[in-house]
Amino acid sequence: MSLKSDLVVVCGGGGFIGGHLVADLRRQGFTRVRCVDAKPQTQWYQRFPDIENLVLDLEDKSACYTALQGAHTVYNLAADMGGMGFIELNKGLCMLSVLINTHLLMAARDLGTQRFFYASSACVYNADKQRDPNVTALKEEDAYPALPEDGYGWEKLFSERMCRHFREDFGLLTRVARYHNVYGPFGTFEGGREKAPAAMCRKVIAAKLGGPKELEIWGDGHQTRSFMYIDDCLKGTQMLTASDFVEPINIGSSELVSINQLADIVEEIAGIKLNRSYNLKAPKGVNGRNSDNTLIKQVLGWEPDTRLRDGMEKTYRWIYDQMAGRGS
Ligand code: NAD
Repeated sequence: MSLKSDLVVVCGGGGFIGGHLVADLRRQGFTRVRCVDAKPQTQWYQRFPDIENLVLDLEDKSACYTALQGAHTVYNLAADMGGMGFIELNKGLCMLSVLINTHLLMAARDLGTQRFFYASSACVYNADKQRDPNVTALKEEDAYPALPEDGYGWEKLFSERMCRHFREDFGLLTRVARYHNVYGPFGTFEGGREKAPAAMCRKVIAAKLGGPKELEIWGDGHQTRSFMYIDDCLKGTQMLTASDFVEPINIGSSELVSINQLADIVEEIAGIKLNRSYNLKAPKGVNGRNSDNTLIKQVLGWEPDTRLRDGMEKTYRWIYDQMAGRGS
């Protein structure tokens, strides 16, 4: 177990999940938090001047040794990633994130890090199990035989295995979560890396703020997903990191909705109805995906439980404030 005075390093802390994790650690009273990201600090979603903030490119091996100097616990949330629109068109960039996790693992091993958390993804799951929108929720064993999302998913699966072998061969205590679609405030909602919940909010808010009363949906809208609110992601991540469980595990909501239902929710929050069009050529990912939470309930006695409607309300309000604040 880590003490509140132990040094915790959040890699990718300028990003969406990392930024929330840093904020949460501060709230809990951790006194030594180091936040590391490649982006200039002005682009970090959340930034706290009272903690140690480092701008480093963690693909570089020596940067990883600088980042992890003295670390007790490391959360690796750094990756070159985004929603389907990004990962389907940037497979090479996604796979280069293998350098980040590999070099961080080497530094953690050599510098005596006590706990190493790695953020994997539901994109590791075999595509053949995700062809039907009426999905059977994905259990952890469904990652094999391997047929993950091309590019991004292969990198995640490989990095999961690196964590396993660093634990087996070098005794580094690694923990691996397979996140299923995380959403919430202080994340990307435009620019090409955004994911479905934020993109849906942005499109509906644009109409609400005076744009055309149109809503373009990627795919036929029947594809299904589950979405996890950021607070659940933070809770599961920290519980898993403190636990004795060593295998990759789902951290995701099991509340399954179609993309059309997600659009219904956002329209209802906004109090508006839009004309929908369906872009069948846009990247849309697998037809159906849900998280089977049997294992997490056994291991942690808990599962992500924020209702989608509640989490989307908070997300919508934050994106609304960003867009209304700059007048678009
Ligand atoms: P994000 O893009 O908001 O944050 C990732 C951060 O990593 C960014 O701030 C980026 O600048 C940083 N980064 C990229 N390359 C780097 C490098 N070379 N050196 C240092 N920093 C670098 O993404 P997120 O949503 O916060 O995701 C965090 C982690 O969780 C990622 O590993 C992602 O693959 C994983 N994940 C996220 C989701 C989700 O729905 N958000 C789902 C599954 C898995």
